[in-house]
Amino acid sequence: MNGYVHSTESFGTVDGPGVRFVIFLQGCPMRCKYCHNPDTWKMNSGSVRSAQSLIAEYERNKAFYKNGGITVTGGEALMQIDFLLELFTLAKKKGIHTCLDTSGITYREGESSYNRKLDALMELTDLVMLDIKHIDPEGHKVLTGHDNAGILAFARYLDEKNVPVWVRHVIVPGITDDPGLLSRLGAFLGTLSNVKALDVLPYHIMGVRKYEELGIDYPLKGVEPATKQQALEAKKTILTAYWRVRKGK
Ligand code: SF4
Repeated sequence: MNGYVHSTESFGTVDGPGVRFVIFLQGCPMRCKYCHNPDTWKMNSGSVRSAQSLIAEYERNKAFYKNGGITVTGGEALMQIDFLLELFTLAKKKGIHTCLDTSGITYREGESSYNRKLDALMELTDLVMLDIKHIDPEGHKVLTGHDNAGILAFARYLDEKNVPVWVRHVIVPGITDDPGLLSRLGAFLGTLSNVKALDVLPYHIMGVRKYEELGIDYPLKGVEPATKQQALEAKKTILTAYWRVRKGK
């Protein structure tokens, strides 16, 4: 089957362990104000690629991916779950490490054919990188246009399924850097037993040019980039709350 692909990156080093073949799928329902890939938002556009052709592209450089594998990101990769199922089925047949980078926005609790597909996909997924954009439901809505209830439920679902998770959180000055919010995020993560790593990233403005090219107003005009030090401090706050819960203090 075919999928809509925005682009591929042959030697990714920040989207999962080791050197990875990174596939950016097209289409995302979120509208994160700091998104640096607004060109991935539109559904059903980009290059039409078969799962086989992507695996073949991986195999051309496979000597470089010894400790890495394939990461599928976006856009929102789970918008094309049928394609992902085929791609990861092929990847697992070849023993390739599979990583899914997602915001979790497509998840809804309960019985559904979508959730049955998700169960099957998780059997084929070695690692999920979960972007938690904002821990507060209202704040999340303002930042992304969507509520975060399904996303937090997705995090709990991954825990129940024992899927290893790397959590990512972007520090945006004045929006996600409040210590109270960071502690709430850490306390939530502390209720999960599958969190293997936490990446706290400083907000940057490298995507601004893309907004200009697309003729879209940049929503965070005037917000300064965060520093590495701010991200480091935020990570400490999150982890303090995380360990408090994990150790039952
Ligand atoms: S989920 Fe990712 S691709 Fe979608 S709007 Fe947010 S940052 Fe952009």
